[in-house]
Amino acid sequence: MREKRDDDDAPEVNEVGHGRREFLVSSTLGLAAAGAASVLLPGRAFGAPAKSATSTGAAVGDGPYPTEGMAGYSATGPLKLMKFQRRALGPKDVAIEIRYAGVCHSDIHTIHGDWGPLTYPQVVGHEIAGEVVAVGSSVSKFNLGARVGVGTMVDSCRHCAECVRGAENYCENGNTQTYASKDRDGTITQGGYSKFIVIDEDFVLKIPTAIDLADAGPLLCAGITTYSPLRHWSVAPGQRVAVLGLGGLGHLAVQLATAMGADVTVITTSPDKTKDAKRFGAKEVLVNAADYPKHKRAFDFILDTIPYQHELSPFLPTLKRDATICRVGVGKLTTPNEYGQMTMVLNRTSIAGSNTGGIRETQDMLEFCAQHKIKPQITKIAMSGVNDAWTKVIDKKARYRFVIDMTA
Ligand SMILES: [Zn+2]
Ligand SMILES: [Zn+2]
Repeated sequence: MREKRDDDDAPEVNEVGHGRREFLVSSTLGLAAAGAASVLLPGRAFGAPAKSATSTGAAVGDGPYPTEGMAGYSATGPLKLMKFQRRALGPKDVAIEIRYAGVCHSDIHTIHGDWGPLTYPQVVGHEIAGEVVAVGSSVSKFNLGARVGVGTMVDSCRHCAECVRGAENYCENGNTQTYASKDRDGTITQGGYSKFIVIDEDFVLKIPTAIDLADAGPLLCAGITTYSPLRHWSVAPGQRVAVLGLGGLGHLAVQLATAMGADVTVITTSPDKTKDAKRFGAKEVLVNAADYPKHKRAFDFILDTIPYQHELSPFLPTLKRDATICRVGVGKLTTPNEYGQMTMVLNRTSIAGSNTGGIRETQDMLEFCAQHKIKPQITKIAMSGVNDAWTKVIDKKARYRFVIDMTA
């Protein structure tokens, strides 16, 4: 048993490349395996009622942990409350009481079956922020009470070249996504629209004290999804960057690129977002396609955050020679993007894609946001309000991220 309460002296959350860990417990059986003893919050005896335990009032012990969340039961129906269990603590697991979960467009695409068939019921949500309430016997990076987050991944193979270099998001053997993914015990992962989660510590992020927990969630998908390509394509002072679409991803991309020193132009179809775009740091806002030609060969990089199939050709001539437009929004798999080949050939431009970031890079992104006071503009909702929020996201009425407050 360890007594430490804060996480100041915990090592960095960056270690990758070690051997595959032992997995000792099942997520569905009520048996904690030998050697998987946990550390409890002071005053919380195993099996006894906890003073300030989980929202459901359950005691915090080794688990498995009863919890509840909003689940999709079909591609078209509303999300409904589902009671389910989180697995018992493995030696390297941390149990997190979720305080906030951001609503990402990927959640909607997934439940709607836009990215492939799904097993229902399914809880989505991969912008998770909360507090560590129990840790496995071998956990070394987190202590009880630590403010933590979980993004889009909860595991990866740990040994492929991508994992070894810290790019678990590009794991050659396919990482385990936070939801709708087959976990190593064969169960399907259930996401963050829920009150409790159990995760291997290697996939847990530290939330810097300067970042409010409610703001942290959206950084873990929308934030890293835009930060990673801006870094990969070396966005720097003096460059001109265009951000296509001003939604959950776009409004963070504008702040991030501005903080990296770029001169940012927002391209949107919503004229009412002009003022917001400038508040987030944009120098210029393009609403009418008729204005695009004025920006011929203007941009060093375009980050395309639009979560639907759309015509790329109008934007290709606005790239400088050798510049890239990178898609981070992804529409239905059955409706691929089209683009003008001749424009690309004449200007040697590239169309690229990028998918979130590794754990180390995600931690870097959080530190960067803390340093530059970057945060999402959020609207807090109760768990019961998530169906209404989804409708607003689809109708482009989110300003700019809905965040489920689990205590509301
Ligand atoms: Zn997301
Ligand atoms: Zn791997």
